[in-house]
Amino acid sequence: MARDLGSKYVCFKCGTKFYDLKKPVPACPKCGADQRDAPVAKPLSARAARAAAAAPKTEEPEAAATEEEDTETEEEEDDDED
Ligand SMILES: [Zn+2]
Repeated sequence: MARDLGSKYVCFKCGTKFYDLKKPVPACPKCGADQRDAPVAKPLSARAARAAAAAPKTEEPEAAATEEEDTETEEEEDDDED
């Protein structure tokens, strides 16, 4: 059993399993897709995944925005307490 088949791939386009046979370009023998063009399938690091899931979106829903924008300017008056 020669184990000289190179790296194993699963074509991201057609799902064909193949080995790159140590060729410089790991192209699918069936559809010819260059596996280097595959969308990055690396599993996100747990940290990144959590960050994405729990990302505190600072954007406030515009629908909730009322006419209370004036309060922002009032805050500046806090310094005037004297
Ligand atoms: Zn393919």
